Amino acid sequence: MNGGCIFCKIAAGEIPAQIVKKGDGMLAFTDLNPQAPTHVLVIPTTHVGSLNDAKDSAALGKLMAFARDLAQEAGIATKGYRVVVNTNPDGGQTVFHLHLHLLGGRAMHWPPG
Ligand code: AMP
Ligand code: ZN
Repeated sequence: MNGGCIFCKIAAGEIPAQIVKKGDGMLAFTDLNPQAPTHVLVIPTTHVGSLNDAKDSAALGKLMAFARDLAQEAGIATKGYRVVVNTNPDGGQTVFHLHLHLLGGRAMHWPPG
């Protein structure tokens, strides 16, 4: 638990979130400011600041598979979806607890902004 970290607090149940799914050391909840009809955040429940700080490759794989399973369960897998990991300021990261964005339910654009 990182004291000031909002996603650690969500993982600890200290602040509310719309929980979508719980997994082994992982949690998915709805983004407060959704950018698509489906916008879910997938986090490890223990604090990792960013993708740069993620030492456990197997855990990263599990997060990715978790997001893939969520896409299936949300009914967006066949039409398609996007998984995004914003990293540090140029990547647009604003919350410094590793998270995957699962976005779907509309067509995505490329290149991203
Ligand atoms: P990023 O900019 O990649 O760090 O994404 C952080 C995301 O967290 C943004 O999409 C925010 O809308 C979302 N967010 C921030 N606070 C909360 C919260 N309390 N509950 C759910 N989502 C949040
Ligand atoms: Zn944290």
